[in-house]
Amino acid sequence: MTDPVEANVSEIIPLDLALPSTGQLREVDADIFWLRMPLPFDLDHINLYLIKDGDGYAAIDTGIGTNTTELIWDQIFSEFNIRLSKIIVTHMHPDHIGMAGYLSERFKAPLYMTMSEYFVARAIVAGGRGASDWHDRDYLNKCGMSEEYINNAMSGRGGIGKVVRPIPLGFKRLNADSCISIGDYQWRIMIGRGHSPEHACLYCEDKKILISGDHVLPNISPNIGVYSTEPDANALNLYLQTLPQFKALPADTQVLPSHKLPFTGLHTRVDELIAHHQSHLATLLTHCATPKTVEQCLAVLFKRKLNPHNMFFAIAEGLAHLNYLYYEGKMSRELNSHSQWVFKAIV
Ligand SMILES: [Zn+2]
Repeated sequence: MTDPVEANVSEIIPLDLALPSTGQLREVDADIFWLRMPLPFDLDHINLYLIKDGDGYAAIDTGIGTNTTELIWDQIFSEFNIRLSKIIVTHMHPDHIGMAGYLSERFKAPLYMTMSEYFVARAIVAGGRGASDWHDRDYLNKCGMSEEYINNAMSGRGGIGKVVRPIPLGFKRLNADSCISIGDYQWRIMIGRGHSPEHACLYCEDKKILISGDHVLPNISPNIGVYSTEPDANALNLYLQTLPQFKALPADTQVLPSHKLPFTGLHTRVDELIAHHQSHLATLLTHCATPKTVEQCLAVLFKRKLNPHNMFFAIAEGLAHLNYLYYEGKMSRELNSHSQWVFKAIV
């Protein structure tokens, strides 16, 4: 889930490009094409990019693994006579990796990912293999969720495999600060953390173009979550540590994000995203003047009504902010008599 953040309209400027309709390619720079795939969520689309690579194309991200996405890809391949040479996936979320297996298999093209993203994707899709759901239940209970909510959430587990096609059993590793050649250009791998474990962003110095994935988005704030797998994680700290590096790129860098519109104004956007989280942290410190569970903090962080899909991410986002304050020494965290975490601001 993502969160709306008011963009500074005078400085965050969408590139002057018409939106590509479904199955169409929009050239955003010489030999770089933008396309959109539908998503069955509130956030109803993902941006993908194709970059000319010799006589083929490198795909950056792949769309969610549904028949709809497959049909659109097939239509693109036949209409534009395109062959893929590389499948590059920024991170392991299903809208990014979903069709990687299909595309890699179809063209016998290598899959490029960072190591953490590749293996976390493999692990999540492989599922729990019958391991107990105790950790998930304990996490949701500690976050203050009701027994009814927890039972419902447990019955809906394991859906991710349905929207991720079988992941190739081998990959090529993207390393921090290494470069990948695509056509005549070099793209440097910049790692973002917090939204996912080792998210790859790609920067082309010659073109001053950043493919930012979900790490830097316009209009919306990437979800920063702490989940049941590692409930003591400090994901927000990882995110805030890996955002400022993008201010070292030129101010007029063109940013090609995974959602919403390509834009310029990268430095301003980084500042806005940091300010957005700082404002959430300040809100929580005030709200937790008296002890609160994670669940009791959600209403002050998210003004809109949360459906079950969004609730899963909202809990994780709430805990990410509360854990951050706990590790900063600004919040205490104790278990109450119901084994729920209660957070209280330290004054
Ligand atoms: Zn993502």
